[in-house]
Amino acid sequence: MAVLDDKLGAKARRTINDKAQNLWNEVLERVSLRVAKEGFDTWLAPTTGCGLTGSKLEVQVPNSFFAEWIGQHYLTEIRTALADASETPLEVVFKPKDVAAAAALRRKEPKITESSRNGEFRLQARYTFTNFVVGESNRFAYAAARSVAEKPGGTYNPLFIYGGVGLGKTHLIQAIGNHAITVRASLRVQYVAAEAFFIELIQAIEKNTRLAFKQKYRRLNLLLMDDIHYLVGKERLQEEVFHIFNHLHDAGSQIVFTSDRPPKEIPTLEERLVSRLGSGLVVDIQPADLETRIAILKQKAALEEQELPHDVAYYIAARVKSSIRELEGSLVRLVALASLTNRPVTVELAEEALKDLLAAAVPVSKDSIILAAAEHYGVTVDQIKGNRRTKHLALARQVAMYLVRQTLGLSLKEIGLSFGGKDHTTVIHAVEKVERLRAQDEAFAAQLRKLTAGINRG
Ligand code: ADP
Ligand code: MG
Repeated sequence: MAVLDDKLGAKARRTINDKAQNLWNEVLERVSLRVAKEGFDTWLAPTTGCGLTGSKLEVQVPNSFFAEWIGQHYLTEIRTALADASETPLEVVFKPKDVAAAAALRRKEPKITESSRNGEFRLQARYTFTNFVVGESNRFAYAAARSVAEKPGGTYNPLFIYGGVGLGKTHLIQAIGNHAITVRASLRVQYVAAEAFFIELIQAIEKNTRLAFKQKYRRLNLLLMDDIHYLVGKERLQEEVFHIFNHLHDAGSQIVFTSDRPPKEIPTLEERLVSRLGSGLVVDIQPADLETRIAILKQKAALEEQELPHDVAYYIAARVKSSIRELEGSLVRLVALASLTNRPVTVELAEEALKDLLAAAVPVSKDSIILAAAEHYGVTVDQIKGNRRTKHLALARQVAMYLVRQTLGLSLKEIGLSFGGKDHTTVIHAVEKVERLRAQDEAFAAQLRKLTAGINRG
């Protein structure tokens, strides 16, 4: 009997696996119609459906790099395709083949249940202080974040962290939450990106659940609000943040914000909110230096139990400078190429893996941006840098200033100087005006996107 049961069990398992495989194949087929072929072949083709439980479809992926990459780049398409392909609502879960590495990662984490992290608090386990490499560029921000995590509502309230794209703001703000709940498990924590907060607010207004929305945020001990520059041009949202801020601050609760620039430089932000945001401690994260970039690469590789010779780490770190996210992306590409072609990780392989990436990353210069804007508006570079203020010229100038700011993140003063020695208030005004137009006028926003894409292609 037992033998028969086993056989039946095995057969049942096989049927389930078949089902999972069939369903996943169907999802892949749909996804393949919507995404670039090269990406699909690299990231999605090597995956298989391997399990189907009540509410979950399990998909096996080569390693946790894949899980992460797919999660970051293809999840929306996958979810849509899954909703179309399956009658019952299913969640997709990626299972790395190298479970050993994943288990090792988990062992390093404090014991907080995944559901409370992801569900209620929206914290991701991998964003910890332990996994954050400290260097000159982020030392101060790191120290402030740690201090706040140890003692929320203490001296640095609010804490405001700002820095460029992909430099570790989300990592740090999430690490605060992850650490704080290990210090005090009963802490009421919420991570929310400003954009998600906005969507929640709109829904609450539509569904008449404003009160519940307010209460949810007002009861917190620690509010982590990411990417607050999203507030630009959204008065209703600013108002709401302002009130929640006051309430929490009065109650002695800790608030942490991140932004891509300091409070004073967020255009169209109400004065009273600016002063609130800047009233605690404001710290910045600078681009990482070479040494830190190498250390980050080595740490990422070690977490994945992936061999990474020093010369290869150096090769990548010396070339990928702009953001840690791109640095990670480069490592992911390299590891993927090594595993797909069964070749060892060497400088030659790195060269091959990063060829397209590096070719695409020809540094953009101020002048090429100004030229692009000038061409777009049919004026000359000299006119843009000059002082004549016809309506058309002024707009071209303002757009050019805005693009330089967005693309290169130069200081207002530097930008003013590059435009024939203009005052930094002129630059603020330009950036504000363009942001406002962008928010109000979809056609203008589309033009800006086109211009930006053109610039980034070089
Ligand atoms: P931002 O929010 O500033 O755009 P993220 O926090 O999302 O940037 O960081 C991008 C990626 O780089 C993340 O995967 C993060 O874990 C990683 N990262 C950034 N800084 C560090 C660091 N100092 N040490 C380790 N990983 C880092
Ligand atoms: Mg972020």
